[in-house]
Formats: sequence, C-alpha cells, structure tokens
Amino acid sequence: MIDLSGYCLFITGAGSGIGLETAKIASAMGARVAGTIKHKNQRDVLLEYLEDEQIFELDVINSAELDSAVGEAIHNFGKLDGALACAGIIKLLSTIETSDVIWQDILNTNLTGSFNLARAAAKQMKTQAKGSIVMISSQIGLVGHPNAAAYAASKSGINGLARTMALELGKYNVRVNAIGPGPIITDMTAETRSIPKRRDFLLNGIPLGRFGKPEEIANLILFVLSDAASFITGQIICADGGYTAK
Ligand code: NAD
Repeated sequence: MIDLSGYCLFITGAGSGIGLETAKIASAMGARVAGTIKHKNQRDVLLEYLEDEQIFELDVINSAELDSAVGEAIHNFGKLDGALACAGIIKLLSTIETSDVIWQDILNTNLTGSFNLARAAAKQMKTQAKGSIVMISSQIGLVGHPNAAAYAASKSGINGLARTMALELGKYNVRVNAIGPGPIITDMTAETRSIPKRRDFLLNGIPLGRFGKPEEIANLILFVLSDAASFITGQIICADGGYTAK
C-alpha cells in the first residue's frame, strides 16, 4: 500500500503537466513537497499545493542553483525521501535539421538536468541510507521515433544513468528507476495532438487507442517513489498504453 504521510519529495518541472500532477497528488496524500519552476507564471498554480518557500525558480541545467535548492529543501524538511527529475523539453526535427544548439539544449535539459538532480539527491540519500530517485524517460527512450533524435538520445541516456546509479547506490538502500510515459495529454504534446496527421500516427501506435492522462503517470511515479516499491531498482518502467509492446 502506498503511504506518503510525512514523505519529503523534491520535483523538477513541477510547474506543469506530469510534475504538477505528481506534486498535487503527493501533497493530497500527506507528503511535503518542494519543486522547481522554470517561469514565474508557474508559481501561482503550484502555490495551490506547495508552500512558497518550497518553490524554486531555476534552470535544471545550472547544477549550482539546483544543488542549492535541494540543500534548502533538505534543511527545511530535515530529510529527503524522494526525488523526481521531471523537467524536460522536446523539439520534433529530423536528425539533419537538428542544429548544434538544439541538440545541446535538449541533451542538457533532459539528460544533464536529470543527472544534476539525481546526483544532489543521491548525496543526501546515501547519508540517510534510504531514498528513492525517479527520472522521467519516455517510450522514445526504448524505441526509435522519427524526428526526435536528440530527445530519443536524451531519454535513452536517462535509462543508462538510472541503471548505473541503481548499481552504485543499492548498497546504501537508495533505489533509482526511470519511468517511460507514452504520449500524455500535457503541454508537451499540445501541438502534436492538434495536427490530425501527427495525432493519428501516434494513436495508431497505442494499443489502448488513446493518449494517457497525467495522473496515470503520477500514480506510477508515486508508487515507485514509495516504500511499496521497496524491492524495485534499476528498472525502466513504461506506462504507455502498450506502445512499446510491439
Ligand atoms: P510539460 O511541458 O508540461 O512539463 C515539462 C516541465 O519542464 C515544464 O514545467 C517546464 O517548465 C520544465 N522545464 C523545461 N525545461 C526546463 C529547464 N531547463 N529547467 C527547469 N525546468 C524546465 O510536459 P510533461 O509532459 O509534463 O513533461 C514532463 C516530463 O515527461 C518530461 O521529461 C517529458 O520529456 C516526459 N514525457 C512526456 C511525455 C508526454 O507525452 N507528455 C511522454 C514521455 C515523456
């Protein structure tokens, strides 16, 4: 059974979509949650679920700022039970169209940003001899996807990082996993969902025949973060309507 009362959780990308939904459900279940936002206008919606001093406006690429925010949250909470690396971006471009700048931006945000959070959390969790880290990968981290070279590379990188950290940190009772959502109804897929040809291409690949809802990912994230998943580490767990079953 999932019990999050008194659980202390740090989330990047908490200002919208899957990160926001996770913050909302975790708070409702009695967790204390700190989260990062990228833009000022994300603060108001997050304030419905988090205290103002637990909201950090920063760029996950900046490891010094992220270390400092995680440190502040640990100072306020007295511990860190879970960390969720959810911040991410996508740009749908063919490999040939992908410029150096776009490649670096996607790799930095998705992969280095996740590493920055996971490393900061791991340092604390090792000293506590307990913790759970979840990084958001994608179904596109497991299968190829046209026009998503940088995104696919970044998410495959997260899978390798999660497995490696799980091997290193298991002896300290720290679990590390990646979760691979399929296409979910968030801002990230708004454009794709609005273009019939792209929408139908995606829907045709999903055995359940529909897009997922943010809460369907948030519930899985919170299970993996919680003690109910105490024997699960080093895994890439997909919630993708069956997309990767082929
Ligand atoms: P979203 O766009 O609502 O959320 C992404 C969040 O990351 C935003 O709040 C954004 O402000 C934040 N962010 C982006 N760059 C940042 C940076 N440099 N520093 C700090 N924050 C930054 O979309 P979402 O669907 O909720 O995405 C959450 C995660 O789920 C992402 O990692 C995404 O790749 C992954 N994902 C989404 C889908 C989907 O279909 N929506 C599928 C697979 C994986």
